[in-house]
Amino acid sequence: MIYFDNSATTKPDKEVLETFNKVSENYFFNPASPHAKGIEADKLLESAREQIRKLLKLEKQSVVFTSGATESNNLILTGMARAKKQFGRTIITTKLEHPSVLETVRALEGEGFIIQYMRFKDDGKLDMEHLEGLLTSDVILIAMMHVNNVMGAILPVAEVAERIAGYPKIHFHVDCVQSFGKVPLQTEGVHSFSLSGHKFNGLKGQGLLVFSQLKTITHTVFGGGQEYGFRSGTVNVPSDVALSRAMRLTLDDYEMQRARLYQMKGEIERYVKQFPGIRLNSHHDGAPHIVNLSFTGVKGEVIVNAFSKRDIMVSTTSACSSKRAKLNETLTALHVPDKAITGSIRISLSKHNTAEEVHRFNEVFREIYEEVEELLEK
Ligand code: PMP
Repeated sequence: MIYFDNSATTKPDKEVLETFNKVSENYFFNPASPHAKGIEADKLLESAREQIRKLLKLEKQSVVFTSGATESNNLILTGMARAKKQFGRTIITTKLEHPSVLETVRALEGEGFIIQYMRFKDDGKLDMEHLEGLLTSDVILIAMMHVNNVMGAILPVAEVAERIAGYPKIHFHVDCVQSFGKVPLQTEGVHSFSLSGHKFNGLKGQGLLVFSQLKTITHTVFGGGQEYGFRSGTVNVPSDVALSRAMRLTLDDYEMQRARLYQMKGEIERYVKQFPGIRLNSHHDGAPHIVNLSFTGVKGEVIVNAFSKRDIMVSTTSACSSKRAKLNETLTALHVPDKAITGSIRISLSKHNTAEEVHRFNEVFREIYEEVEELLEK
């Protein structure tokens, strides 16, 4: 089987599983317990947190363990919006966001917040002039992703941070789920960011929220006061220690893996570009692990099934939205024509993929292309 759906989830590294098992076996204790074993578990938890702080080169920020980026995004956006509502009501985001951001801001709209969406120019670049126009004194929160999960587009986090530097009321949150380990993180001028372990060969149900103003937030999860009171619930020490391991492994060979991913991405792009009727939606200078292309005039699902039958797993748009009938919001916001959107597929790579797999993918691509060729709009 060739697995090219790594933006949906990745295979856990063996070392991560080993760490999880070892800690589950030997340190299953509750880190909030007052006895010697509880204290040992707590020490282990804090050393994992410290290691993450070092890996991410953090200074003042707090590291909060969560169950994933969906939870991190929900906690920060809801908690921050509610905490700041006496200062303003406007939240700025983009239509490219993952549902864990889009649906959260839509829910906040129901509480009286006003949502504004940054626009993208015809070339797919963020329209900074439009953003400038949205920056009123009512803005309290900006949420955007660093790398888009459907297209691999890299959003200009540093540029946005620079533009909003004169607005001290604004909290700037960045979803770094698809950028960690693939693109250098941009944390300057960013007040919080979220990560998800299962996107970089960690485990599902592991997330982080890195946050610089912990004391200023409204809590939305109540209970025993774990994770600085911000995220109550018995802490999953084995998972959190395994997450720090996954992060270390990712950063250990980051440069080499990034170069390999770009190489494999380039091979696919060069190959598919020669076929009339195929539209490359993603750009080579986007994230190294995502290729998005369209079989214009044919449904993306048909192509995904054709690959799947030949034991190659690719995706339509993104796993989180592919079951919904409406057109993908990311591709619409980036001005991809409707027909190309319905025919789009995403190929997403990880460090476990090889040049041989890319070669096999390209062979199968030709086979499938020949099968559907007469249906394509060229
Ligand atoms: N943000 C982005 C950009 C994502 O790709 C995903 C996962 N599809 C999430 C957030 C949600 O992460 P998790 O699965 O950890 O909840």
